[in-house]
Amino acid sequence: MSKIAFIGLGVMGEPMARNLLKADHNVRTYDVSNNVLDRIALEGAEIASSPADSVINADFIFTMLPSGKEVFQAAFGDQGFAQSMSKETLLIDTSTILPADTDEISAKLASRKCRMIDAPVGRLAQNAREGTLLFMIGGLKSDLECALPILNVLGDKIVHCGPVGMGTRMKIVNNYQSTALNVLTAETLTFAEASGLNINLAIEVMRETTAGRGHMNATYPNQVLSGNLEPGFMIDLAHKDLGLALETTAKLHTPAFLGAAARQAYSIAQSNGMGRNDWTAIFMTLRKLAGLGPMK
Ligand code: NAD
Repeated sequence: MSKIAFIGLGVMGEPMARNLLKADHNVRTYDVSNNVLDRIALEGAEIASSPADSVINADFIFTMLPSGKEVFQAAFGDQGFAQSMSKETLLIDTSTILPADTDEISAKLASRKCRMIDAPVGRLAQNAREGTLLFMIGGLKSDLECALPILNVLGDKIVHCGPVGMGTRMKIVNNYQSTALNVLTAETLTFAEASGLNINLAIEVMRETTAGRGHMNATYPNQVLSGNLEPGFMIDLAHKDLGLALETTAKLHTPAFLGAAARQAYSIAQSNGMGRNDWTAIFMTLRKLAGLGPMK
């Protein structure tokens, strides 16, 4: 049984703290909202009066806060936990924050000889309830090993992404795709509906094609990531097909911002002489724009 301080008991933090209690850990909680503390106290959590108070004698400190600002406040503000955190305690920051904030927080803690891992989570509130979160860990392997028994209570996939800060970087990259894809999905289904299609039927079809299976599953591993630019489906054709879609959305007056931006990327690839390469070669075009060297 470990002694755990848990700071930030919102949509994600409350069910995580509850799962730690169910696994017989000693959990001492702090949140700026008293309602949630009253609720979790009924389930056996101790209530702390401040972040500093929550971490006394703790083996682990969890923070599950909205942004870097709140993590800084909880750690280094008035009554922040850094003042009473011992060198044996490990901070596990599960919040989604700027990588630069993680770097600064870990450096400030290291200057006090205190340890942390960044451990943002993938998946949803339901997974927090079920104990099936995915953790993206940045930190020393030895610190991860120390946290593993606790993380295994909360999640079923734990990925070590590299040194401190790399978990946060992985999470931001992941959310770039998932949040932008949400808008593309909404654009696509709006287009389907305006075209007179049944949305559920459109989803049934697209789940079985690259549209729904996703390029990370369906195309990238065997094509561009294997150095294979022989066209399964060439950039010239992708440019043509996206053009057909944009001509149609223009007639239907449906929004197609992401589609229009994507077509420009295909146009640039064509200007670079990549038109007859596989459509996944668009990755090479964007890497070049980013000034990246040869692919490792
Ligand atoms: P939330 O707003 O529901 O919870 C945040 C909690 O922190 C609240 O209870 C709030 O009262 C408390 N809080 C705010 N400032 C505080 C402070 N200074 N000291 C102590 N407590 C404070 O947010 P959430 O949905 O639980 O998300 C938390 C983090 O997890 C965010 O960074 C979010 O991006 C990330 N995340 C959320 C989900 C999701 O599906 N909700 C999924 C993955 C990751």
